Amino acid sequence: MIVRLTEKHFKKLAVITDLPLEEVIKLNSMGLIDCDRAVALLMKYDWKLLLSNASAYSAQQRIEAIMNEYNVTEHRVRETVYGNRSMEYYCKECGRKITKIESLKNRGYCHKCTVKQIKL
Ligand SMILES: [Zn+2]
Repeated sequence: MIVRLTEKHFKKLAVITDLPLEEVIKLNSMGLIDCDRAVALLMKYDWKLLLSNASAYSAQQRIEAIMNEYNVTEHRVRETVYGNRSMEYYCKECGRKITKIESLKNRGYCHKCTVKQIKL
């Protein structure tokens, strides 16, 4: 998860919320911006932006670019940009695609990440 929103993110949030940049920065300095929610909005915004910039990048490349920008898992990006209609399952830790059965059995984690959690 991103630690701190930067000027670049505030500019995008200003566009998304239709508020002047100074207002967004002021709200943030007052601690009134929910970082999780803001990042979700930013991810959706970036996703649309990348889609409009021709089909230069594959879906996987767009997803990974957003993962790097906001330091989030692939699961989180897919969940945000595709919504809950996607019936695909991804490990909560590493973001690897897993089966529904594996997800249910391991409470949302893949086999490898489940093994890593075992304390001996
Ligand atoms: Zn995993």
